Amino acid sequence: MEIEKIKNLGLETKLKKSMLFYNESMSKHTSFKTGGPCDLFVEVSDKDELITLITIAKENDIPITVVGNGSNLLVKDSGIDGIVIKYNNRDIDVNLNNNLVIASSGVINAYLGNILLEYELGGFEFACGIPGTLGGAIYMNAGAYGSEMKDVVVEVEYLNLDNLKIESLNNEQLEFAYRTSIFQSKINAIILSVKMKFEKSNALLIKDKMDEYRDKRLNSQPLEYPSAGSTFKRLDDFLTAKAIDEAGLKGYSIGGAEVSSKHAGFIVNKGNATSQDIIDLIEHVQKVILEKYNKKIETEVRIIGR
Ligand SMILES: Cc1cc2nc3c(=O)[nH]c(=O)nc-3n(C[C@H](O)[C@H](O)[C@H](O)COP(=O)(O)OP(=O)(O)OC[C@H]3O[C@@H](n4cnc5c(N)ncnc54)[C@H](O)[C@@H]3O)c2cc1C
Repeated sequence: MEIEKIKNLGLETKLKKSMLFYNESMSKHTSFKTGGPCDLFVEVSDKDELITLITIAKENDIPITVVGNGSNLLVKDSGIDGIVIKYNNRDIDVNLNNNLVIASSGVINAYLGNILLEYELGGFEFACGIPGTLGGAIYMNAGAYGSEMKDVVVEVEYLNLDNLKIESLNNEQLEFAYRTSIFQSKINAIILSVKMKFEKSNALLIKDKMDEYRDKRLNSQPLEYPSAGSTFKRLDDFLTAKAIDEAGLKGYSIGGAEVSSKHAGFIVNKGNATSQDIIDLIEHVQKVILEKYNKKIETEVRIIGR
């Protein structure tokens, strides 16, 4: 455990605008509502304090983990070593002359959706119901109903964790593909802000689309239970959720974790699941699908922890 070492760094005096929580249970910060403690959880919204924190962590060899709203994370029951950082800046700047919007990575997708509705800017309706922050949406190239973040992003500004420089990349350079971006493979960074381009629309059209997508979600997804959305990635020629259903796994459970009986693509926490229950169930589903269809399915959910 790094906790004593971290407590001795005097972070409280150096990070006056941030919120620090020692030995914080990650179940409070994940939509699965599971996961053990991290040594220190820091919510920071000031860029200078973010750089100070990372500099100190690097100097002291303390591992850092970046999270958004935890809507796509499964944190192991053993928790996370070191410092978990949530960059929580929520600034939004709308320019109606060119329909460009710059928003900080801590902005919640649903909140941005409502701001864009007010300004009558269309193009983000698909993302309003995707839980989480813009930072997580960029990292994952989140998408729904035929659109994805790639379709609206112009540029992303990030703090490069290797050289501590603030850098930016444009849309083509971000290597967006199905549920991935350059940040998953090549650049170790904290995403700071996102410049996006939208189209002048009208409030009625935007609201109609938002309502249509919301209703689709309510009808098809088990939103009454904690989950992290689709557990597995789909394959090009293979509909994973349909295969899980046809394999008879709907409703199959291990401990408190269950393959949702409403949507086979979701594993849900029925109340008292541990992360290990969910991991065991994921592995069981993967094994059955491999045996039955000879297909290796990968998780979309990111499993982290010690
Ligand atoms: C009910 C439900 C429905 C869902 N539906 C969809 C859907 O339709 N489409 C879809 O794509 N996803 C869906 N998801 C999954 C999830 O909402 C998305 O993946 C979302 O983009 C995750 O955002 P987050 O802020 O919660 O990120 P987190 O889950 O906290 O993090 C996800 C990854 O992003 C990284 N990350 C987060 N913020 C930053 C940052 N600022 N800088 C660098 N890295 C960062 C983290 O390190 C982590 O690896 C759903 C989830 C739930 C619970």
